[in-house]
Amino acid sequence: MPNFCQQHWDELKAAIEARDLMQFVAKDGKQAMENMVRDLEGQNTVVDYEPLLGSDFCMSNVAMSFYGLRMMAVEEGEEKPPCPVCMMQKMPWIEWVASGALAEAIRRGLIADPNKQEEPDGGKSQES
Ligand SMILES: [Zn+2]
Repeated sequence: MPNFCQQHWDELKAAIEARDLMQFVAKDGKQAMENMVRDLEGQNTVVDYEPLLGSDFCMSNVAMSFYGLRMMAVEEGEEKPPCPVCMMQKMPWIEWVASGALAEAIRRGLIADPNKQEEPDGGKSQES
């Protein structure tokens, strides 16, 4: 059911266990499914608190917000949809934040836009 790869699933279970939360984890797939159905129907209660599946859904939602329905698709040659943790680790975070910093510096007029074409006439024909 979870799309986590084995390594990340094991890491998540260890993290839940390290926080003494395994006592709240569903005992089997049937109980987990019943909890999930109540959750989807908006009928879950504090009794249905499930830290393992909840963490799984949380991570999957984050990955879905970036990759959309691709997170639910089974790629050719794969047996199940991609692991959300693996997918998020593929994101070029360093490039993105550095590019964001560059865009902000350009916006503030601190440096010239390196991607902006120089006008042949020195920008005289530019508006404003
Ligand atoms: Zn993974």
